[in-house]
Amino acid sequence: MFDCVLSTSISGRAVTGELIRVSVQNLRDFGLGNYRQLDDYAFGSGGMLFAAPQLKAALDSAKPDGVSSFVVYPSPQGVSVTQEVIETLAHQEHVIIICGHYEGIDERFTQRYVDLEVSVGDCVLTGGEIPAMMLIDAMSRLVPGVVGKTKAVIEDSFYRGMLDNPNYTRPAEWEGLRVPEVLLSGNAQAISRWRRKSAAARTISRRPDLLSRAAIREYLTGGARIAFILKDGSEDFSGVSELCRAYSLGRPYVIAHTRELREEARRIFPEAKILADLRGIACDNVLTVKVFTGAVMNSVHSLEVRRMCLEHEGSILFVLSEDETELEDLAGVSGYLYEHSLKIPVNVKLGIALDKFLGKR
Ligand code: SAM
Repeated sequence: MFDCVLSTSISGRAVTGELIRVSVQNLRDFGLGNYRQLDDYAFGSGGMLFAAPQLKAALDSAKPDGVSSFVVYPSPQGVSVTQEVIETLAHQEHVIIICGHYEGIDERFTQRYVDLEVSVGDCVLTGGEIPAMMLIDAMSRLVPGVVGKTKAVIEDSFYRGMLDNPNYTRPAEWEGLRVPEVLLSGNAQAISRWRRKSAAARTISRRPDLLSRAAIREYLTGGARIAFILKDGSEDFSGVSELCRAYSLGRPYVIAHTRELREEARRIFPEAKILADLRGIACDNVLTVKVFTGAVMNSVHSLEVRRMCLEHEGSILFVLSEDETELEDLAGVSGYLYEHSLKIPVNVKLGIALDKFLGKR
């Protein structure tokens, strides 16, 4: 079964090019007695199970010296395989996949030696080989060089937690259906915008559940900025610029009501755009998200804020405040950071806000 998959197409080239190394061990080699017995009756149910001692012998033989192995057992009872699970596995030094059969394997082996049980779906297969091949295939795509263009991997469904945009090839018209005109325009910027918009629309309509984990920043059609109200000149600004860079945000706005505070802000935070009040901060085509610490009346769940940001044609402005009354006159949607008003530094609050509304889970 494995020879076929590991000798053809992209996986085959990855193996021959030594980008990945896969060694398949036959559990039968670790069977006991004349019949090389691996399985036995399950206490209570009477089904057949792989026995723990033979599995342990196979595991010991699969572990290379001096390398730490991560042991995976594909099982319908495991966590669902997602791209995040694949990324976690792909980052391991060495992965051992134990394929079950019949009723599965002795629970004590799982308890003692399995690091992660993974399920490939809410259905039951006859054995773990096909799930194992699926894991190998998905992990190998993440190894640099296996798939021609790294960019292609990043743009695939789930990598950033979103679905891919619809794709078309020649002919430009087929059975009366035409490829979207923008894709034929040669306008790289317009194409990129269309791709992001249609990927976002697809995710929202088909898999809204993904929005809780998606990195939506790349899919916003306009820029995103952040504004916060400076209360106390002794606030810690360290890390704010780094946060803005990490989330590709423009210069942040700092609102400082007094001249002293504005001077202080200018001194400690030269990159910021410093304003005396909130007037004029929001303009046309900007979706303003008022971010409070603590849920307030009519505040919107962060998932809904993410959806609104994705659907918005224009830029986004997150305005942070401890006190919602300060933002009363500002139009926009209200989100909240956490239920309780924790007194934490502004840089921590910014980090939480950016992660909650733009970050990947
Ligand atoms: N008695 C087990 C249960 O109900 O959970 C099912 C055993 S199944 C028939 C035999 C083997 O196939 C399992 O040990 C596992 O390795 C593999 N398998 C079956 N369905 C799977 C799934 N959805 N995901 C991952 N592995 C699966």
